[in-house]
Amino acid sequence: MTLATMDPALLDRLGAIVGPKGWTTDPAEIAPHLVERRGLFHGATPMLLQPASTAEVAAVLRACAEARVPVVPQGGNTGLVGGQTPPEDGHAILLSLSRLNRIRAVDADNDTMTVEAGCVLAEAQRVAAEARRLFPLSLAAEGSAQIGGVLSTNAGGTAVLRYGTARELVLGLEVVLADGRVWNGLRRLRKDNTGYDVKQLFLGAEGTLGVITAAVLRLFPRPREVQTAFIALTEIDDVIDLFHLMRHLSGDQVTAFELVPRLGLEFVLRHLPDAADPLPEAAPWYVLVELSSGQPPGSLRPALEDALAEAAGRGLIKDAAIAASESQSRALWSLRESLSEAQAVAGASIKHDIAVPVSEIPAFLRRASAAVRAALPGVRPVPFGHIGDGNIHFNLSQPAGMNPQVFLSQWSRFSRIVHDIVAEFGGSISAEHGLGQLKRDEIRRYKDPIEIELMQRIKRALDPDNLMNPGKLVLP
Ligand SMILES: Cc1cc2nc3c(=O)[nH]c(=O)nc-3n(C[C@H](O)[C@H](O)[C@H](O)COP(=O)(O)OP(=O)(O)OC[C@H]3O[C@@H](n4cnc5c(N)ncnc54)[C@H](O)[C@@H]3O)c2cc1C
Repeated sequence: MTLATMDPALLDRLGAIVGPKGWTTDPAEIAPHLVERRGLFHGATPMLLQPASTAEVAAVLRACAEARVPVVPQGGNTGLVGGQTPPEDGHAILLSLSRLNRIRAVDADNDTMTVEAGCVLAEAQRVAAEARRLFPLSLAAEGSAQIGGVLSTNAGGTAVLRYGTARELVLGLEVVLADGRVWNGLRRLRKDNTGYDVKQLFLGAEGTLGVITAAVLRLFPRPREVQTAFIALTEIDDVIDLFHLMRHLSGDQVTAFELVPRLGLEFVLRHLPDAADPLPEAAPWYVLVELSSGQPPGSLRPALEDALAEAAGRGLIKDAAIAASESQSRALWSLRESLSEAQAVAGASIKHDIAVPVSEIPAFLRRASAAVRAALPGVRPVPFGHIGDGNIHFNLSQPAGMNPQVFLSQWSRFSRIVHDIVAEFGGSISAEHGLGQLKRDEIRRYKDPIEIELMQRIKRALDPDNLMNPGKLVLP
């Protein structure tokens, strides 16, 4: 269905619900919402809606349900699996939550804040900080990603080790169901054993079960001291011992433990004009470690130095640089956070977002790297990521000089190789980005058919007419 074929009466009704500022059919205004950043998926829609209240979202979903027209929710459009991109045939309405972006309440005494879905993640962090609290979910796209999108993808980020993924940061939700009814589950309770935890169904559902319109988020005390170090390793096998040593000797103060390969660092040094190599000699692997503590400042730095000295004494590390200031810490973090985009300097890349048990990471990296090199001599693995969570972005840069399109045409072939190895290690083919369109079919190869069937039953129960983001995550 296109603008020409979608019932004009429905479009009029939707436009009237959201008012003149809340809709457009102008292709130029809609265009940026129809592509995602990797360019893997392109969509079409006759109308972009931007409701400004939960009541408007509810009325939109009711109207679409009555007309049997699908709806695709969209937040900051930073998703990496095509979940937010409408179908190519233009038969769905695109529902942006950007105008539903108020902070409804900050309850410092209860360590919670109630935030609407369109609030940008960085803004939620800022408001929490203003109240002398921490909202710990942090990721490189936080300047654009919105709370609704972050919760719908169950985002992880760099502090999962200490604070958990989005699932663990939500106490309550407000959701508009596929039929337009509003479920007000905005509870601020830490304990609530009154049956199934319904909110968890919507977290990580990628918009396939309903539209999240607001959430009660957990807040934490702000750390009083943070220390960051960039550590060089000679052997990847030492990374697990180093991880446990750092956790143990710091009194479990490790909040981030991120893997950076030498090749990735070299890409970043070429990509970022101001970036500098933190260490004088090259090493094959690095770890960016961050410790944070609520203790009075002064105790963490000696703990970090002692842990590094012990690691060096045991031969686990080659060298380390400790950030002497907040700006040095930010510079170290920007090396890590630029890895993904810096890969572009080496041409096309094929990306995998996988998880294996933490202890299996070195063995997985060896197996998977050997397998992809055997499949295509010259391919360059650039594995990096949240090693403390067992989550590696096993990205592959094309062989130098190869035609980028020819390389990208092998995406499925490489995914099969990598994901089969992930499965052998008891891992997951999507650690934090979700399934969307990219892995909707691929997951069927790896998930227990009973689990897929349970997911389908949940989908059918909450969205019997398959109107909520159809074609994403699971087919009904
Ligand atoms: C540079 C970069 C770094 C990243 N780093 C990390 C990382 O470290 N860890 C991590 O976990 N992820 C990471 N991501 C992925 C990130 O988690 C997602 O891009 C983000 O959470 C999606 O938020 P969004 O508002 O952009 O949602 P969108 O991209 O707009 O949507 C994502 C999905 O959520 C659905 N959706 C959006 N809003 C709603 C709503 N209100 N109700 C129901 N469904 C909705 C959409 O339909 C879609 O399926 C990164 C992405 C980028 C681009």
